[in-house]
Amino acid sequence: MANVKIYTTDFCSYCDIAKRLLEKIEVAYEEINIHGDPAMRDQIEELTGRRDVPQIFINDQYIGDDDSLAALVNSGEIQSLLGSDQPTQVETKSNIEERNVIIIGGGTAGFAAGIYTSRAMLEPLLLIGNALGGQLSLTLDLENYPGYFGTEANEFINGLKQQAEKFGTETRFETVTEVDFKQHPFWVKTYDQEYTAKSVIICTGSSPRTLDIPGESEYGGKGVSYCATCDGFLFRDQRLIVVGGGDAALEEGIFLTKYASEVFVVHRRDQLRASQIMQERAFKNDKIKFIWDTVMEEVVGDEQKVTGTKLRNVKTGETQFFPIDGVFVFIGHNPNNQLFQDVIELDGQGYVIVDRKQQTNIKGVFAAGDIHDHVFRQAITAGGAGAAAGIMAEKFVAELENRSYPAEISTN
Ligand SMILES: Cc1cc2nc3c(=O)[nH]c(=O)nc-3n(C[C@H](O)[C@H](O)[C@H](O)COP(=O)(O)OP(=O)(O)OC[C@H]3O[C@@H](n4cnc5c(N)ncnc54)[C@H](O)[C@@H]3O)c2cc1C
Repeated sequence: MANVKIYTTDFCSYCDIAKRLLEKIEVAYEEINIHGDPAMRDQIEELTGRRDVPQIFINDQYIGDDDSLAALVNSGEIQSLLGSDQPTQVETKSNIEERNVIIIGGGTAGFAAGIYTSRAMLEPLLLIGNALGGQLSLTLDLENYPGYFGTEANEFINGLKQQAEKFGTETRFETVTEVDFKQHPFWVKTYDQEYTAKSVIICTGSSPRTLDIPGESEYGGKGVSYCATCDGFLFRDQRLIVVGGGDAALEEGIFLTKYASEVFVVHRRDQLRASQIMQERAFKNDKIKFIWDTVMEEVVGDEQKVTGTKLRNVKTGETQFFPIDGVFVFIGHNPNNQLFQDVIELDGQGYVIVDRKQQTNIKGVFAAGDIHDHVFRQAITAGGAGAAAGIMAEKFVAELENRSYPAEISTN
């Protein structure tokens, strides 16, 4: 039997994806959690040249991360790595599964929609994609969700999932690859399965924006990161740059000071966009220094890892090489709308257009959370919109089936 090892950390949804894929193809594996273990981290870095997780080995041969594993499984190439007696293909079911409601996205909006539609006895299916908890899985702290007195985003996410499942939401770690909203019931396809649904709620949120500068993608996982919670501990006693000037940049910068010796916040202007309270916290933190009026033009490294960056002052035009061990980018988000281009109406910035009842231009297809909201972008507002979308989906399905529904909520 092949010896499969997967190196993981706490709070790593990509590690969960890789583990689930291995479980799906019925391959036993050994999990080695390297959270807070600098010696192990160095060892993995030496073996893989990577500073992120998951990292997977089969019979001591380095395979790569969750994406590499999925590619090997999809192509069938994993068979020769595992030995011929191992099952290799993810089974694709030929039957189309019929559902009342499908929720696409496992962030706050999606789970809120799940709670409402499952309490309405619609037995919704919630397709999580690859990030359980969505963007909240990228952060450690959650202090501003009304009624949630804990502070740990991870605990909050688990609570959301448990609550939705308790009422009958079925959750699956599947990524939607295609939709057809011209037909009804609507058609939804994932890597594993095809579905139809009477109503669909889109909660695909948004993803961190990249800098698009030389070296950024080359050193992704080798010192460039978009997730302080996931990768921060890999930079103990090292010097880091955080790019950005909003709440997320400061919150994550402050978090990184737990590990880093110094954190330099590089911001293109001479004042921050962040809220007053976050600014005060950052200014009080001795380990945080600001580099104002400056943009990063290049990430530089020695092929193994980041060694520095090229910075340019936008006022003087002066450039400098700035030695650094890691770069964390927090410069905003792009809506995860790839599935919906030319399918439903999007605004000029690519966000799904909805009315006050979360209804898109297609009756029965609703959207909630950061996929339509580029103003508030908070867990509580995403949750509120998810709840509203859930209520409207319930109403829509009731009308289709000629069932009664409280008259004060109309779908028109
Ligand atoms: C670093 C950071 C810190 C933050 N801190 C706070 C905070 O302290 N308080 C606060 O209120 N907000 C905070 N936010 C903002 C908050 O996380 C978002 O507003 C909220 O998560 C939006 O929820 P959502 O459900 O709309 O989308 P997301 O959280 O973005 O979730 C999207 C979901 O869609 C899934 N998905 C995407 N594409 C597909 C597909 N094709 N198939 C299936 N599933 C798919 C993803 O896997 C994910 O589960 C923070 C955000 C970040 C990045």
